[in-house]
Amino acid sequence: MTTRSSNSYTLDPHTTRQLYINGDWSSPAHAATLPVINPATEEVVAQVAQGSCEDVDRAVAAARAAFPGWSSTSPASRALVIGRIHELILERKEALAQALSLEMGAAIGFARAMQVPLAAEHVRVARDVLSSYCFQKVEGGTAITREPIGVCGLITPWNWPLYQITAKVAPAIAAGCTVVLKPSELSPLSALLFAQLVHDAGLPPGVFNLVNGSGAEVGAAMAAHPDIDMISITGSNRAGALVAQAAAPTVKRVTQELGGKSPNVLLPDADFDKAVPPGVMSAFRNVGQSCSAPTRMIVPRNRLAEVEALAAATANAIIVGDPQSEETILGPIANQAQFKRVQAMIEVGLNEGAKLLCGGPGRVQGFAKGFYTRPTVFSEVDSAMRIAQEEIFGPVLCIIPYDTVDEAVAIANDTVYGLGAHVQGQDLEQARSVASRIRAGQVLLNYPAWNPMAPFGGYKRSGNGREYGLHGFEEYLEIKAIVGFG
Ligand code: NAD
Repeated sequence: MTTRSSNSYTLDPHTTRQLYINGDWSSPAHAATLPVINPATEEVVAQVAQGSCEDVDRAVAAARAAFPGWSSTSPASRALVIGRIHELILERKEALAQALSLEMGAAIGFARAMQVPLAAEHVRVARDVLSSYCFQKVEGGTAITREPIGVCGLITPWNWPLYQITAKVAPAIAAGCTVVLKPSELSPLSALLFAQLVHDAGLPPGVFNLVNGSGAEVGAAMAAHPDIDMISITGSNRAGALVAQAAAPTVKRVTQELGGKSPNVLLPDADFDKAVPPGVMSAFRNVGQSCSAPTRMIVPRNRLAEVEALAAATANAIIVGDPQSEETILGPIANQAQFKRVQAMIEVGLNEGAKLLCGGPGRVQGFAKGFYTRPTVFSEVDSAMRIAQEEIFGPVLCIIPYDTVDEAVAIANDTVYGLGAHVQGQDLEQARSVASRIRAGQVLLNYPAWNPMAPFGGYKRSGNGREYGLHGFEEYLEIKAIVGFG
């Protein structure tokens, strides 16, 4: 699958067209492939298999056959293999970072510092949670036992490709489930490296299976499959709803991590020098392609000019460019469809009359090719505007003024989404009180360090279920009560 050259692994063009099923690489039922495009050059850099329903059937059969054995292994032996997967991610971190940079344009420094290490953390956490988890408690003569739910179909998006994969695969196999993974067809290269790594870690055949292909065919076949017990999807609301519909007749568990339009409330007592620049950078992290990016900065109206100056200065200083350059902060948008969508939404903002502080339509100066997007900040945004309501998924920040803290909370909640939220303020009591009034699954106060144990998931249309840490692990378990246990 891969060839080794010092610390890095490169993709073998023949095997990228293969699927990983039942512990081995094999050809798909049909020879069709899908191109992978480097968003920095707009050139095709690989072809991956375009899997089909037949391939899904084969992968599900392998996962089903492996389930009795894997689910009855001891937690200690599962933790051992998962620990090995963690080690291999760290050993192969450079190859994974390069694959991420190629498949989605991630700035190489960002891929090395964030995309890969945070992905590894989900694996470490799954191992640690498993190692101390109590699968059975006896209360009043009744045993409450947690058991793996079965065969899980895992569907992931292109924006944090490896991170989303490990956030699902690691807890699922730690719980004792077997899995079929369908990564995004737009950024599937790091997934191929991950499959090889899982193989090399010694995971038994059939526990992990990878079927590349489109959502409409492979994803939909998984959602409807009678032999899959649970589907976990991260992606758009459109795909999340289609998966739930397709899964309904077989009554499988569906967890969805979907879109967001997260608020960042700057309370009047916030230190704006410390609150605005990191707020802009958080909104633009990963080129704004993060479901929980705080893209609505909600600020006191009487401090608007100060916020605008700080936000524009921060955005204008961001280096957008070649993802292979160490200096680059933001690479291109990950694919053409997303680039077009972001461009269209910037036009919408202008047409709606928002005040453009910096950025705007068109490519970054100096680039005739590549999906390079200008970091764009709009101010005087009204919460009813489309740019304040719709997920843009690109480097576009909306600054929305408020007059009272109650109004700030109302604006924060004026969305169909409820994934993430930020609150900035020096009075921690007030910040906590505002956090408690925001309808979102994860609220961050004063830009804390990332906590991989903190459950992550959405209220409202941002999804159902939670990922990461203990709560993410428990999503893959069923509860059995044995009454009269003694
Ligand atoms: P997408 O919905 O197009 O695709 C996501 C995955 O779903 C892909 O693997 C795709 O092939 C698959 N898919 C598409 N249609 C399907 C169908 N009918 N049946 C089954 N599977 C199908 O989303 P995307 O463009 O890859 O990702 C961006 C979106 O993901 C954004 O809206 C973003 O907010 C969301 N996202 C959410 C989270 C979160 O944790 N909440 C994290 C990352 C991304």
